[in-house]
Amino acid sequence: MGAHAGRSTDLHYERITVNPEYFFTRSADTSVVSERASDDTESVTCGCKVGRITDEHELSDLDDQLVRYWTDRTEERYSTRDLAEHVNQQVLASALDDSGLQYRDGEVENTYRLLTDDDVSSGTRVQTRKELEREGIPIEAVENDFVSHQTVYNHLTDCLEASLEGPSDEERLERGRDKLGALRNRTAAVTKDTIEQLARNDVLAVGEVDALVTITITCEECKTQYTVRDLLDQGGCDCRSGEE
Ligand SMILES: [Zn+2]
Ligand SMILES: [Zn+2]
Repeated sequence: MGAHAGRSTDLHYERITVNPEYFFTRSADTSVVSERASDDTESVTCGCKVGRITDEHELSDLDDQLVRYWTDRTEERYSTRDLAEHVNQQVLASALDDSGLQYRDGEVENTYRLLTDDDVSSGTRVQTRKELEREGIPIEAVENDFVSHQTVYNHLTDCLEASLEGPSDEERLERGRDKLGALRNRTAAVTKDTIEQLARNDVLAVGEVDALVTITITCEECKTQYTVRDLLDQGGCDCRSGEE
């Protein structure tokens, strides 16, 4: 039974691969699945142009992709220009899909290039538009749906509240507080344990103990001393308060 099921899967797979008549360029993207369920709450479309075309062309993965590609910390990171191109190619692909037109690998990208690239002659552009119109594609409406890199940037930062920057100063301070607080608690706990153990072994004569850890930070420039909390809370040493 199990072998049967496995074989039918193989067959199914083969049937797909031996029929590469048309390879849809978007198929790679549609395999991208939203990783966090919490993202669902944010998928309510915004009022901006990107939100509108996301709705119109049912590009449900788009927001997820935009944020991920933009904030990618590797060399693969997309600029907002790259992202605008990505959005526009998806819009074009969606229009081709709607008109039932099938296209080969790279064809969407190439068609987009013919429509938009400065290096393409106006004659070629006119020809491309005519051909698309002949195929029943409302090319003017499609081009009107194309977005600029600025629009994508606004959508990312305003609507999706994405940011290229790392955590805010406040978040960094908070993390610092947490980290040092945990370190202090741990130091106190280990100290108390050690003392108690010595007491249990009659090496040390002492009653019940408690351990308090105070870390003092000295600004070497003015020799002022602070507790961690005070220094973090006031955002720096008094001797530097005139700066920034
Ligand atoms: Zn938006
Ligand atoms: Zn100082």
